[in-house]
Amino acid sequence: MAENSKSTLVRRDLLGSVIKASVGIALADPLLNSGIALAEPIEAPKGTEASGYAASAAKSPLVPFDFYRRSVGPTDVRIEILFCGVCHSDIHTARNEWGGTVYPCVPGHEIVGKVTEVGEKITKFKIGDTVAVGCLVNSCQHCLSCEEGLEQFCENGATFTYNSPDKGTGKTTYGGYSNAVVVTEKFVVKIPSKLDPKGAAPLVCAGITTYSPMWHWKVKPGQKVGIVGIGGLGHVAVKIAKALGANVFAITTSPGKVLDARRLGADGAILSLDAKIMKAHENTFDFILNTIPQSHDLNPYISLLKRDRTLVVVGALEKKSSELIASSLIHKRTSVAGSLIGGLAETQEVVDFCEKHGILADTEVIPIQKINEAYDRVVKKDVRYRFVIDMSSLKT
Ligand SMILES: [Zn+2]
Ligand SMILES: [Zn+2]
Repeated sequence: MAENSKSTLVRRDLLGSVIKASVGIALADPLLNSGIALAEPIEAPKGTEASGYAASAAKSPLVPFDFYRRSVGPTDVRIEILFCGVCHSDIHTARNEWGGTVYPCVPGHEIVGKVTEVGEKITKFKIGDTVAVGCLVNSCQHCLSCEEGLEQFCENGATFTYNSPDKGTGKTTYGGYSNAVVVTEKFVVKIPSKLDPKGAAPLVCAGITTYSPMWHWKVKPGQKVGIVGIGGLGHVAVKIAKALGANVFAITTSPGKVLDARRLGADGAILSLDAKIMKAHENTFDFILNTIPQSHDLNPYISLLKRDRTLVVVGALEKKSSELIASSLIHKRTSVAGSLIGGLAETQEVVDFCEKHGILADTEVIPIQKINEAYDRVVKKDVRYRFVIDMSSLKT
């Protein structure tokens, strides 16, 4: 045992030095592009040893990474991670497509696991509980947004599950592509025992991101609701909208997904590349949720709305999104709005709602070793509909 720990430390020290030396020249460094294991610098604050997968630069594959999680504080819960969903945001961040990625970057914010340790003040959870952690791990908890249960809009800056400054440790947060995580109790939700943990993992990002705007804009039974983009978010959105009683249409550029829409529970599907079909549905929708994660022209979707209705965008579209054509808004007093995940109470609410209505994400389970291949397949839209990493594969 002792000898093993010693050799691990030596490896960490060596590779920690490699990372530090390579700042600013990461793309040109053959070591960092070679798939070699990474580790935190040796002087990193200690806690509990953890392992996972990290990207070391925008163009590098994710590779094994050893690091530390903080020790469990009085209001913390330590979770052994069972499954973690693969969200398109993980890819945008690992590849620095939104800018601002701090490396090494451990993505992952659709975490489901078992509680293995609880702080002395914890009453809500006990060891052995199945729980989830979504996109947030902390917030100031006293601003107006936090007081209203909208921690995602924390006016002092929410702490996101990965690539976010961690006010407690002074480091950058590491996400769920790892064996364990330590999170303050308030940011952990319960997963009912009836919910399959791998299908439930995407509910804490894909589920809440689509449920929250449908609740906020008050989607009602019988309303005609369009879900644009039938991917990780969109396929869950179809199921949630259906459970809310809406008349749901999947709106997609993929002929294959038109065929799949009914299986997901949609009442109909629209191939958005077909101008004739789009024209036939003009001025008929009560609400449209747009889940496409890349820049694209919003105007054709706005034309589908009835007067006074809203199209909500939930993808963090990159800079070159098309300009809105004012005439497509003013003639029907339509609105284009945005929405970002949801607060903690609402995240618990969507998990409970999905349990009640038998909703799970459609998943393809992968070992962590396939993560780079999975990223390429997500970008090519070649997944039905969410990759979920089986974290037991980290041990193999
Ligand atoms: Zn996500
Ligand atoms: Zn706040």
